[in-house]
Amino acid sequence: MIVVPLVDLKAQYQMIQPEIDSAVARVIAHTGFIGGQEVQAFEAAFAAYQRTAHCIGVASGTAALFLVLKALDIGRGDEVITSPHTFIATVEAILQAGALPVFVDIDPVTFNLDPNQIEAAITPRTKAIMPVHLYGQIADMDAIMKVAQRYGLRVIEDAAQAHGAELSGKRAGAWGDAACFSFYPGKNLGAYGDAGAVCTNDSALADRIAKLRDHGRASKYEHDLVGCGERLDALQAAILSAKLPHLDAWNDARRRRAAWYDQALHELNGVCTPAQMSGARHVYHIYCLAVSGDRDALLHALNAQGIGAGVHYPVPLHMQPALRFLGYEPGAFPHTERAAASIISLPIYPEMTTEQASRVVETLASLLSH
Ligand SMILES: *Cc1c(COP(=O)(O)O)cnc(C)c1O
Repeated sequence: MIVVPLVDLKAQYQMIQPEIDSAVARVIAHTGFIGGQEVQAFEAAFAAYQRTAHCIGVASGTAALFLVLKALDIGRGDEVITSPHTFIATVEAILQAGALPVFVDIDPVTFNLDPNQIEAAITPRTKAIMPVHLYGQIADMDAIMKVAQRYGLRVIEDAAQAHGAELSGKRAGAWGDAACFSFYPGKNLGAYGDAGAVCTNDSALADRIAKLRDHGRASKYEHDLVGCGERLDALQAAILSAKLPHLDAWNDARRRRAAWYDQALHELNGVCTPAQMSGARHVYHIYCLAVSGDRDALLHALNAQGIGAGVHYPVPLHMQPALRFLGYEPGAFPHTERAAASIISLPIYPEMTTEQASRVVETLASLLSH
């Protein structure tokens, strides 16, 4: 009985059906399914959108992160500093590259990596910092870049949730060596399957990633590097090109909905609305509340009443069974652990109606008053 889903991909398709259908039909008609003009056109458009010199389309956000690490020669024996409060793919990419993820706790207000705690985690093996622009808000990049520059570290931005997000008028890719994007269907810019991209201002890095994603090819059967098969599909590129012109309006609709939620919720007892850093354009991939009291009971009650609320993310990465071998103990990252136990994501998507949003707020208010 979900009345208000967490995201509604069908509602978006219905708004732009002719554009999507003609893009798909065009690719099927020309049968250029791999690479070619569709991929190049999207790469040029997305580089311009993020205001970086280059964009390399790849198979997923996870592949984007992995390929940047590989292109920067970060692997065995190296350490990469990141947040334990993110989707596991951030850390999987580091491990796939052969490097060791080293966690640093989050800032409890923004849920992003706390720059003040990075220095204490740096060792002679540290090669890079991988900040995550979580929920659609750019991490504190000025402070992170200062630490990185002091220690000569690479910076790889996980921008999988931050298409079009800004800080001081700059978009992801403006600070680090590269920014990595996911076009997983539910992301602010989503494909109709898996897709991702790397945006960078570094031409040599862009060339290396473009080769690595396509079997290290210099030409059809000449391989300069041992790469992998992590290309962006032409079909996905065509769909993304059709959707990209709508992205700023969709992000604006998310921002208006978030402001509406802020207003409607800030006086409720026991909830803390998300903070937007000064100078930030938060694009609200996720609208994340912190609640006091029994979060899981509240979540289940919301779901039972048709509100598709969720939690991003309920288990800190250092406490995931798959990552126990990293050797962290519960209690290692108190802000992350407190967030994981107290946050709740409310439904948010550009097509959401005020009636739906009112239903979310009324349900939440009535549950909190009991
Ligand atoms: C979605 C996501 C990824 C992974 O992207 P895929 O396209 O699913 O591989 C990585 N990091 C974060 C923070 C994400 O939200």
